[in-house]
Amino acid sequence: AINKRLKLVASYVEDKRLADIGSDHAYLPIYLAKENKINFAIAGEIVEGPHKVSIKNVKEEGLSGVIECRKAAGLEAIELADNIEVITICGMGGKLIADILEKGKDKLINRPNLILQPNLGERFVREKLQDLGYTIIAEDIIEEDGHIYEIIVATDGHMSLAEDEKNFGKFLSKEKNDLFVKKQKQELDKVNYILSQLEKAKEEKSEKVLELQAKAKKIEEVI
Ligand code: SAM
Repeated sequence: AINKRLKLVASYVEDKRLADIGSDHAYLPIYLAKENKINFAIAGEIVEGPHKVSIKNVKEEGLSGVIECRKAAGLEAIELADNIEVITICGMGGKLIADILEKGKDKLINRPNLILQPNLGERFVREKLQDLGYTIIAEDIIEEDGHIYEIIVATDGHMSLAEDEKNFGKFLSKEKNDLFVKKQKQELDKVNYILSQLEKAKEEKSEKVLELQAKAKKIEEVI
């Protein structure tokens, strides 16, 4: 049931008390509980349908004593008394992940580790982590079903990211592995396509064109 992407996320979980926010089917906490990597988890989910499915899945696996499924928005699923040590938020846009962290920052006072997997908009996640006093300790990248996903692991601490690190990753932008280069080339193709369409529409000098040209230049520099 668990896919390659979530397995890679799971490999970064080193604490015993987890909150998985936007858990959907609860596959991630179920996998970690079966592997004996965690001994308590909250599977937080905002939508009724997936929330019910998560309860059913957890019950079927006999893990109701380990995983609590809670219907809640973002970090509202967490009580400070839960003593959560690590939070995972996966499979959403980076803006939404950043928003969830901002709105729930009172739940971060015990400084749980954060493992985040934005589907896009990674920059918003890195910026928010820096704002909240978190530092990125690892990044990973994986391709599944034609999409390339980034994973960002952070812990309590200070960082000061350069522009390129916000956009392209604190570590990924330096390692520049094959998948990273592939992802940035795809991004560059998209930008160039939009630019060609705008040129056809004779909008060469619009602000949008200048912005996209700057973006293309940045990508070309990093790969
Ligand atoms: N985390 C799983 C994964 O990576 O495979 C599921 C990803 S699924 C695409 C995103 C889930 O997040 C959906 O089930 C959605 O209902 C839930 N979600 C969206 N916004 C949320 C929020 N503010 N709080 C809790 N769950 C949310």
